Amino acid sequence: MDYCLRELEGKQAHDPLFMKKMNNNKSTTTTTDTTSSIQSRRCVFVHGPIIVGAGPSGLAAAACLKQKNIPFVILERSNCIASLWQLKTYDRLRLHLPKQFCELPFMEFPFDFPTYPSKQQFIKYLENYAERFSIRPKFNETVENAEFDGDIGCWRLRCLNSNKGGVTTEYVCRWLIVATGENAEAVVPNIEGVDEFGGVIRHTSLYKSGEEFRGKKVLVVGCGNSGMEVCLDLCNFDATPSLVVRDSVHVLPREMLGKSTFGLSMWLLKWFPLGVVDRFLLIVSWLIFGDTAQLGLDRPRLGPLQLKNLSGKTPVLDVGTLAKIKAGHIKVRPSIKRLKRHTVEFIDGRSENFDGIILATGYKSNVPYWLKEEDMFSKEDGFPTKPFPNGWKGKNGLYAVGFTKRGLQGASMDAKRIADDIEQCLEAKAKHGS
Ligand SMILES: Cc1cc2nc3c(=O)[nH]c(=O)nc-3n(C[C@H](O)[C@H](O)[C@H](O)COP(=O)(O)OP(=O)(O)OC[C@H]3O[C@@H](n4cnc5c(N)ncnc54)[C@H](O)[C@@H]3O)c2cc1C
Repeated sequence: MDYCLRELEGKQAHDPLFMKKMNNNKSTTTTTDTTSSIQSRRCVFVHGPIIVGAGPSGLAAAACLKQKNIPFVILERSNCIASLWQLKTYDRLRLHLPKQFCELPFMEFPFDFPTYPSKQQFIKYLENYAERFSIRPKFNETVENAEFDGDIGCWRLRCLNSNKGGVTTEYVCRWLIVATGENAEAVVPNIEGVDEFGGVIRHTSLYKSGEEFRGKKVLVVGCGNSGMEVCLDLCNFDATPSLVVRDSVHVLPREMLGKSTFGLSMWLLKWFPLGVVDRFLLIVSWLIFGDTAQLGLDRPRLGPLQLKNLSGKTPVLDVGTLAKIKAGHIKVRPSIKRLKRHTVEFIDGRSENFDGIILATGYKSNVPYWLKEEDMFSKEDGFPTKPFPNGWKGKNGLYAVGFTKRGLQGASMDAKRIADDIEQCLEAKAKHGS
């Protein structure tokens, strides 16, 4: 297959007509291109697909292609693989789901890893994965623009290399695999008075541990898995956290009846309808936690799995935060109205002094900023518009891996499908000789 691909694409790259079309179109690729020095820009024709992003999804797609001897290039904006995990997560982080649900294709977690591997263990697993499949991304390459050129039937990517004094390279390829993740950019809410506030304000992507907040009063905004866990971490470092809860939230124990809640839910779903499994999860949670609304954590009207299916909103898997809330070590607060120098005013009229604010306000996809296409991705949220399991494939050789809101399992499913599809495409091409 490798040889066949090189030959087919090689023919194109040496076809003077194809090259002429490519060069003709250069000045019309993007508006900014016309002002940049087109002649000095490097242009690279890639044999096989380009994968944008070297997180777990990009690595999974790369391994699946490697197994089929399909060559590819991975472009990664940071200087390492899995940059979300290496650079933007807190020290105490562990996989939220048991390891068997977080494996990438063709490689299990080591037997001696715990059920919930630590961040360092997960990074080690990914490094070994890249090593095993000889995956070598091009680092410090930020894709700023990608557009399909109908004249040459290829994708053109404009890429900025932050290491080489901002050199721009144009990559041209037949297939484009988007693996930039559901968590590409931090979401920072607009809070009135943010410039007035005298303490530290930090998104969780920059929070490492509670050490720097020892003895301080800290307000954590957002009650997803990260917000809950940061509160716990702050408690462990003798800080005094309060948690802003703006929405209703499902908090479930991480384990029920001696099994992981996630694993148990997946198993039950094989036998029972979703509504029944939801009811079961809520009853067991109630038996373990009591009524979470009493603690200021109202439950949504829809059950946890139904809500996840409809909106992608993940239930919080509790690792001890709820006990701290019950014990009064973590206070629950409503939305912020505005900030003053040392004070936070809440919408219920109360005011309180804080030394710092941690924004556990989540992340968003960055696809709409760089991918110029009309069909596959929503301009609003940067996710595929087709619902799961059909969001992985678009038109003109465009693919998405890791946008299913189903974690690493979803990414692995996408990666296998994409490699199969590209293989079929190559086989069809080889058969028809075009
Ligand atoms: C705190 C936390 C805990 C989690 N725990 C779990 C868990 O236990 N189990 C689970 O299944 N999922 C979990 N997730 C979900 C998470 O999305 C996945 O674990 C995983 O990181 C997704 O991989 P990805 O490759 O799709 O995205 P990412 O890991 O975000 O990787 C995307 C890569 O693309 C790069 N990139 C972005 N834009 C560009 C560009 N324009 N040009 C070039 N490169 C670019 C980024 O630098 C990044 O390296 C967790 C997420 C978070 C935030």
